[in-house]
Amino acid sequence: MGHLEDLRSQLTGTLVLPGEPEYDAARAAWNLAVDQRPAAVATPADVADVQAIVRAARAAGLGVSTQPNGHGADADLEGVVLVRPSRFDEITVDVEASVLRVGAGVNWGRALARLDGTGRIALAGSNPEVNAVALALNGGQSMFSRRFGLTARSVIAVDLVDASGEARRIDDASDPDLIWALRGGGGLFGVVTAIEVALFPADALFGGSLAFPIESGVEVLRAGFALARDVPELGLDLGLARFPDLPLVPPPLRGRTVATVALVHVGDEATGRSYADRLTAVAAPVADTLTAFTIGSLAAVAAEPTAPMPNADFGAAIDALDDAFAAELVDAFLAGADHGLMRVSVRALGGAIADELGADLAAVGAVHAGGFLNSGVVLLDPSIDAPAALRPLRELAARHPGDRVVPTFLGRGTTLADAYPREVVERLAAVKRRVDPDGVIRANRPIGA
Ligand SMILES: Cc1cc2nc3c(=O)[nH]c(=O)nc-3n(C[C@H](O)[C@H](O)[C@H](O)COP(=O)(O)OP(=O)(O)OC[C@H]3O[C@@H](n4cnc5c(N)ncnc54)[C@H](O)[C@@H]3O)c2cc1C
Repeated sequence: MGHLEDLRSQLTGTLVLPGEPEYDAARAAWNLAVDQRPAAVATPADVADVQAIVRAARAAGLGVSTQPNGHGADADLEGVVLVRPSRFDEITVDVEASVLRVGAGVNWGRALARLDGTGRIALAGSNPEVNAVALALNGGQSMFSRRFGLTARSVIAVDLVDASGEARRIDDASDPDLIWALRGGGGLFGVVTAIEVALFPADALFGGSLAFPIESGVEVLRAGFALARDVPELGLDLGLARFPDLPLVPPPLRGRTVATVALVHVGDEATGRSYADRLTAVAAPVADTLTAFTIGSLAAVAAEPTAPMPNADFGAAIDALDDAFAAELVDAFLAGADHGLMRVSVRALGGAIADELGADLAAVGAVHAGGFLNSGVVLLDPSIDAPAALRPLRELAARHPGDRVVPTFLGRGTTLADAYPREVVERLAAVKRRVDPDGVIRANRPIGA
């Protein structure tokens, strides 16, 4: 503890230790089902603070792990100093160069708001409260990824404090092997203080969500999968959801089981509507939020929950989105829903996600799977049996294994070996041994076997 008391006196920012009144609030993750008890929680004010934290943790034989929000929180963090990067709040937009620079404390919603009116978009995730750096380091599948690629591949440069406490700027010129690892290998390689990502042109955006009665679920999924094949640049998230019979759920969906389609088209409304028409020709939607929108309103398209909640999740890559898979997905979802499964969705892949040009510059590489499956159980009620709820989906994914999955889509208890082929995992392990031979920097997804 002496080391940590000394550290506190060196920091401009704050350090909270177990037993102190602020400790429980400071250690809480977005996923309230994760009970993490770090050795300390640090909120550095600047890069010098981060350097002091890494050096002090190393001297004390502790690890260091950065967690902006904890949507991906996993391990118990025993013996680890948890870094909250909230004070790294820089957002700089260079429209001319098409570059966005964000500090490690910035969530996507705030960054995207700054892009309104610029004619540029970034490869953000669907949830405004997910951190930009966390999503980019861990792969990142955006509703724009079929058009422009996975988020990790849009990373131009990373500012980090490495395991020895040195502040470095990493890019293709300064350390090609390390920037490769940072593009999808997650938080194992340093405490990142800022990243620069590429921006992409978008004069107009159209999208939103449709919900259909579950009775039409198989047909809607089949139509959605066909649309995904025919229009490889269209952002599509296709799934199933059971909404609780609670007042917080709006009336058309309250207490219902539905098939859902979220769609994002980079371009004009008429073309976007023509794609949606292929779905509404199959069945009449019970809810429809399709609209032209600006990049700052992307969150409204997915309309995902943002408040912290206790969550169990499972994600995997699926080989091909075909007619047989649509029927199996509905059966697996309904079997899981009997045990509390609330939603499953499949992000269509293809398009720029499978682009081989430049794929060797990023650990995420080019993905040739059909889709990323993602599912969640909200553990609101102690009677919910999460393993039983997720089991039918695990079995389904095991029957249809895809090429690789980005770590942002992995659930708890997984490693990078669950995401990537062996040669990628071995190269990530080699980079880790070079930049952090003592294993000071910890991440939610370790390398794995
Ligand atoms: C509702 C919801 C919607 C989502 N939507 C998408 C989506 O559309 N696309 C997608 O790809 N993913 C999505 N995700 C997954 C999300 O990207 C991951 O959970 C990811 O971990 C980011 O979450 P976070 O901001 O809470 O990061 P945290 O869970 O706080 O951090 C995750 C890990 O990232 C690393 N890390 C984060 N910041 C730093 C840093 N500054 N330096 C070093 N390492 C760092 C650490 O290893 C940390 O353990 C979603 C998740 C949820 C819960």
